[in-house]
Amino acid sequence: MTHIITSLCLRDGGCVDVCPVECIVPGKPQDKWPWFYIDPEVCIDCGACIPECPFEAIFTEDETPDAFEATGGEFQAMPVGTDGFDTPWEGNNHHGNTVKIESTKELEAGVILDFTEDIQPNYAFFEEGGPGYWDGWEDAANE
Ligand code: SF4
Repeated sequence: MTHIITSLCLRDGGCVDVCPVECIVPGKPQDKWPWFYIDPEVCIDCGACIPECPFEAIFTEDETPDAFEATGGEFQAMPVGTDGFDTPWEGNNHHGNTVKIESTKELEAGVILDFTEDIQPNYAFFEEGGPGYWDGWEDAANE
């Protein structure tokens, strides 16, 4: 098993600081990989990242919800060009630095989302065809 970062991720990066095995990296290029990603081969399922996420975007793989009901006001991020995701989002990460995400959507209360669809990109990021680890991730996470 592993932990999964879902499309509720707005690149806060607090998870990176607490992961004891340093297996969380920011997606790059950001327009194609807008979330942070957990290397499933390295994650030890300690759970430390879950409470660190201000957007409650992280779940165990087994508990990734297939019928998440939005309370309203959450933002979901997707690769640039995804239908319906045409709202830029800007905020601060846990270090107080500005984060900009080009392609998001604000969720309305009551919308039901299947976050199990976000599991595959977490694996794909580290598999053939995905960018995997990026040498500059530590600098990016600490910006
Ligand atoms: Fe890292 Fe633990 Fe989260 Fe896995 S569950 S990504 S090991 S902090």
